[in-house]
Amino acid sequence: MDGTFDLKGAADAPFYLPQGDECDIFAAAYRNCLPVLLKGPTGCGKTRFVAHMAARLGRPLYTVACHDDLSAADLIGRYLLKGGETVWVDGPLTRAVREGAICYLDEVVEARKDVTVVLHPLTDDRRILPIDRTGEELEAAPGFMLVASYNPGYQNILKTLKPSTRQRFVSLDFTFPKPEHEIPVVVRESGLAEDRVKPLVRLANKFRALKGQDLEEGTSTRLVVYAATLIAQGMAPDRAIRAAMIEPLTDDEDTRRGLLDLVTAVF
Ligand code: ADP
Repeated sequence: MDGTFDLKGAADAPFYLPQGDECDIFAAAYRNCLPVLLKGPTGCGKTRFVAHMAARLGRPLYTVACHDDLSAADLIGRYLLKGGETVWVDGPLTRAVREGAICYLDEVVEARKDVTVVLHPLTDDRRILPIDRTGEELEAAPGFMLVASYNPGYQNILKTLKPSTRQRFVSLDFTFPKPEHEIPVVVRESGLAEDRVKPLVRLANKFRALKGQDLEEGTSTRLVVYAATLIAQGMAPDRAIRAAMIEPLTDDEDTRRGLLDLVTAVF
């Protein structure tokens, strides 16, 4: 493992505003070859955090958006026909293991069951990836790190992470940032002036308070950034809010009307 990690990091790392000590914990996990699990709702900065940390640690990053059809072979690799010949092609996990890169499995619970089986030997001291098809047993190169995320908010009992898997990771809890963090993030990402971002963040927090009653998910920081970006481009705030912060949250007309009432109250 190269010990050259410097918390000031690469100057060109993607912008990420820490909410607490998550950068230190991630860096410590990296130094000690421990896998990390990021828990939290969609759009609260998990992917950006991993991109930021990978750049600061000077590691290549392979990101895989998991879905219910994603199998172990998609991660490990497969034989493909190329110009009449059968050749083995590494999947993203295998590439990361060979190169000593960071492999980020976004929404890992969505993936098929055989994926967790592959992850187990990689998350203990052995740090190995058995590739049945080729008969190889790869030892992870120095610098390899496994990072996974999941959203415990989705009320899907069938799709939670099993304790035997969860207990293999150092876990970091992500929530929507406090206004003093979210406002500078949205200003920086959208270019909209702070005094115009403040009411958008206030509104987002009012919408978030409705989670579980009228809304399945709270407004993400991503959506606040979208609304602010549209407003910065000249769109009227009420139109931008409807398009970026209301329509993506609900298809129900009554709920939409309720949210629009909140807009009138805040603006
Ligand atoms: P997730 O992976 O949790 O779904 P993302 O990392 O894609 O969410 O975050 C969505 C957007 O929110 C990012 O593209 C970025 O614009 C913004 N964002 C959220 N939190 C932060 C943060 N702490 N620092 C910088 N940008 C952030």
